Amino acid sequence: MDFGWTDRDQAFRARVRDFLAQELPSDWDEIRRHGPGSKEQTEFSLEFCPKLASARLLVPHWPTAWGGGELSTWEHFILGEEMWAAGEPRGAQYMNVNWIGPTLMRFGSEEQRRAFIPQMAAGAAIWCQGFSEPDAGSDLAALRTRAVLDGDHYVINGSKIWTSYAGLAEHCFLLARTAGAPGDKSGITIFLVPMSTDGIEVRSIPSLIGHGDIHETFFTDVRIPATSRLGGEGEAWSIITYSLANERVGIPRYELSSRVLGDMVAALKQRGQFRDSAVQARAGAAHAACEAARLLVYRVVDQLANGRDPDADANIARVAVIRADHAVTDFGLDFLPDTFSGTGHPAHLAHHERAIVAGIAAGAAEIQLSLVARRHLDLPREAC
Ligand SMILES: Cc1cc2nc3c(=O)[nH]c(=O)nc-3n(C[C@H](O)[C@H](O)[C@H](O)COP(=O)(O)OP(=O)(O)OC[C@H]3O[C@@H](n4cnc5c(N)ncnc54)[C@H](O)[C@@H]3O)c2cc1C
Repeated sequence: MDFGWTDRDQAFRARVRDFLAQELPSDWDEIRRHGPGSKEQTEFSLEFCPKLASARLLVPHWPTAWGGGELSTWEHFILGEEMWAAGEPRGAQYMNVNWIGPTLMRFGSEEQRRAFIPQMAAGAAIWCQGFSEPDAGSDLAALRTRAVLDGDHYVINGSKIWTSYAGLAEHCFLLARTAGAPGDKSGITIFLVPMSTDGIEVRSIPSLIGHGDIHETFFTDVRIPATSRLGGEGEAWSIITYSLANERVGIPRYELSSRVLGDMVAALKQRGQFRDSAVQARAGAAHAACEAARLLVYRVVDQLANGRDPDADANIARVAVIRADHAVTDFGLDFLPDTFSGTGHPAHLAHHERAIVAGIAAGAAEIQLSLVARRHLDLPREAC
């Protein structure tokens, strides 16, 4: 087993780091303290992503026909690691480049591709993802929002919750039920909905992760042309399974956790507080958790790069990433509590806040563990 990077991978990583060092402003940590869905960070992403696009670093893994450079799975992953370690300056646009754009390339009509993909490749599009509902989160198939065909339009009624970026997004990648009862996966359909359509109301949910980050989104008699449907009726489940394949390991947060841990250890050394063997042992344990998460994630990326389905290995990796996050924030809370106070380090605060929700968003930790128990340990569903 060889865990080394190729020269090409290293050169690519160096190019991304140089770009970030040059283009991230000195007040970037303050900007991102407002939260990834805030007005401040969204406006920033609309300046930053076009620069990434000009440097051919926004969609380098896309096909050349759509402005990409056909880079490898690993290079795409390196890009994600470096962006996340820098606090994800792409904001909401990471979804466009990672899965919404590629999904439109594969399943969109010619009209849909031409309408949306070039804008995404230029770094100028903000989308949100309308999946979760008040009674359909972990059990997404329970969703109730309905879309009913009326002539050449669909009429949508229902509500979504926790919709990140909805306050500023121009479009929503929406899941709605065109047939069947809640629980029936085969009755769910995808719609590409302009957020300016009459009947859509967005309410921000105040939260510790920043203003404007998560929302309730209500749909009341929202009429959209039938051409806004992505794929056929009832095809949502198979399409999103494809879409989210690249997101299987979630966000590479261990990279940021490692860097935050390094900062905290440096601060403790400076204060003369790193001599205590108990402190050193906890720092070592947190570091080990980050490295374990990194290697488990790399195993999954390797499987994806070789066209294999990582199955429950992806769930194990996600749990390891969540645990590494928590090991680092717990270390900071115990030994450097002032770094998390209101006047603390903005990057550490942001890390801490996001670490709390990282075990819920994009598939809660308990669900990952249930999947590991079923797929790796062969336990029955009821026993989980
Ligand atoms: C910061 C953030 C951003 C988000 N952004 C979006 C977004 O943009 N778009 C979107 O559609 N959604 C978004 N979500 C929603 C997210 O996908 C859901 O929160 C997640 O799927 C969990 O669903 P839920 O909140 O309904 O919790 P529930 O599913 O009700 O779960 C509550 C708790 O019960 C546990 N639980 C549930 N079922 C089981 C089970 N079978 N076995 C064991 N434990 C179980 C869960 O692990 C969890 O701890 C976001 C969430 C967060 C926190």
